[in-house]
Amino acid sequence: MTSSEPILVLDDVSVRYPASASGGSSGDPVAAVRGVSLTLARRGSLGLAGESGCGKSTLANAILRLLPAGTTIDGRIELGGDDVGAMNPGRLRAIRWTRAAIVFQGALHALNPVQRILDQVAEPMLIHDTVPSRAAAAERVRTLLEQVGLPGDRADAHPHQLSGGQRQRVLIAMALACEPDLLIADEPTTALDVMVQAQVLALLASLRAERNFSMIFITHDLSLLADVCDRLAVMYAGRVVEEGPSEQVLRAGHHPYTQALAAAFPIIGDPVSRLAPSGLPGDPPDPAALPTGCAFHPRCPMAVDRCAVEDPVLRVTGSERSAACLLVGERTS
Ligand code: SF4
Repeated sequence: MTSSEPILVLDDVSVRYPASASGGSSGDPVAAVRGVSLTLARRGSLGLAGESGCGKSTLANAILRLLPAGTTIDGRIELGGDDVGAMNPGRLRAIRWTRAAIVFQGALHALNPVQRILDQVAEPMLIHDTVPSRAAAAERVRTLLEQVGLPGDRADAHPHQLSGGQRQRVLIAMALACEPDLLIADEPTTALDVMVQAQVLALLASLRAERNFSMIFITHDLSLLADVCDRLAVMYAGRVVEEGPSEQVLRAGHHPYTQALAAAFPIIGDPVSRLAPSGLPGDPPDPAALPTGCAFHPRCPMAVDRCAVEDPVLRVTGSERSAACLLVGERTS
């Protein structure tokens, strides 16, 4: 792989869960992700935004094929130039942690409650032979903890002896243990209070600056994503409905859903948005029963008659920007 090649290419990726895994007991598979194409530049950062159930986490887990048995992934996923879909189980195990690693939300559940932090952070290094000995692994765990802002002696603690923010830092240390090219952070700050959230975000930003890894950051909070990512992709009903440079997408979304998401959260540094955040009525659709036409039309304040019939595709709407709305060409130029 050359340094100019993207770290990640998603080409027309769709993910379908078996009906039983998505809550039903029979019937057709349910498409949680539908035809997503995205590219992440090496050392770049991409924010995935959207409400719960829009396919963000499914898409992230598909990158490392961390999905329930029976799930179907169509399309092509290239990680560092390699086709993830063509990898056998041994190769997949080899690239998890070393090529790409995921920081999950809810650190208390992601960590083993009866194992010391030392053993948990050391495990991926020992499995992947990135350290020559247990002693070297222990030494590196202490260094990693210090790099994420924790005293090295916290390695001897168990998860319940740490605060929520400290546990999230442990997960970040674990994800970085094997020096992956890509870090996927799936709502890593959702369970944290605002102050700790800001500290974890600052930590991720400084680690990225130091280590130059690429990052995918997932959350429903568009303004938070714009702070930490170069580009944003907004997902709705399993599809990307808008993509572009973060600040532009946040401050001047082309798609009505992006505009609603941006209005639903205060923009840091923008007092007007803090005083008057507006909500979005209703919920995203059930992936097993999508509306006809544009999946957003039952909630869209700009919908016209043909929105219930025609299904918009993602198309170029500006320099390095795209959106999937039937009216977008009529409202932007
Ligand atoms: Fe709204 Fe219609 Fe555009 Fe869909 S296609 S986002 S319903 S205006």
